[in-house]
Amino acid sequence: MQVVREPKAFREACEAARATGARVGLVPTMGALHEGHLSLVDRAAEEGATFRAVTIFVNPLQFAAHEDLGRYPRTLEADLEACRARGVDLVFAPDDGAMYPPGFQTTVTLGELTKPLEGVHRPTHFSGVTTVVTKLFALTGKCVAVFGRKDYQQWRLLERLALDLDLPVDVVGHRIVREEDGLALSSRNRYLSSDERQRALAIARGLRAANEAWHAGMRDAAALVEIVRGPVETSFDSVDYVAIAKPTTLETLEGSVTEAVLLVAAHVGRTRLIDNLELGVDPAP
Ligand code: AMP
Repeated sequence: MQVVREPKAFREACEAARATGARVGLVPTMGALHEGHLSLVDRAAEEGATFRAVTIFVNPLQFAAHEDLGRYPRTLEADLEACRARGVDLVFAPDDGAMYPPGFQTTVTLGELTKPLEGVHRPTHFSGVTTVVTKLFALTGKCVAVFGRKDYQQWRLLERLALDLDLPVDVVGHRIVREEDGLALSSRNRYLSSDERQRALAIARGLRAANEAWHAGMRDAAALVEIVRGPVETSFDSVDYVAIAKPTTLETLEGSVTEAVLLVAAHVGRTRLIDNLELGVDPAP
């Protein structure tokens, strides 16, 4: 496994792989890798990637001043070992200066898709994400890029980004990987005390109940939201949103729904967790 730190070296390694006929697979991450991230590496292979690149970069642009950039877990040695064990071919782990050298001043911003949900609570977050991912797409070149549906809105807007900018990138969204008890894997789960982790299960419990109601024929948007909101409000310290939205546009839905995704963001202690379930599409949490 090759490990590179410089953007130019990353681009050259991707170009060299394509020159041998390989299909490049890209998995962008912020490190502190867990099974959720590593399942994206497997998915890249299933999508036909024969040369798989993981990027590890805690992108300062996507954190607001009051957020957890300073304490975000950084576990590079363990991450490299996990990538090696999973058959990753190339890891790109740049430092901040390599990605944003002095004078850097370009921002990539999307429209409507960035406004609801996360956009309300983290207004500068998505422009940080789309700026760094545009750079990663530009460096990688033609590839299949795999993102987790855990960050549902992010996945949808990165699909849009590749389409709108005619980038030679096939964006794939991979299912959420969960613990046995339903908790969605997240690098931020390591912040949780055992009490907080127990309380965090309320999201999976709520989504599971809504999923059961859906399969029993319930289609009322407000009622489905309330099924999730109940346990989340009881167990979490504060709730940013419990919402039901149209999967492709993330517009809020009302009345009777046919295609819908339930989305949650809530705080337990100092940790903010997100999760979601596309009704009738995703398996029960
Ligand atoms: P992050 O390192 O948190 O920026 O995540 C990197 C990628 O891994 C993103 O595409 C996430 O959506 C994805 N990811 C994180 N957690 C999970 C999970 N539990 N299941 C599936 N994908 C995940």
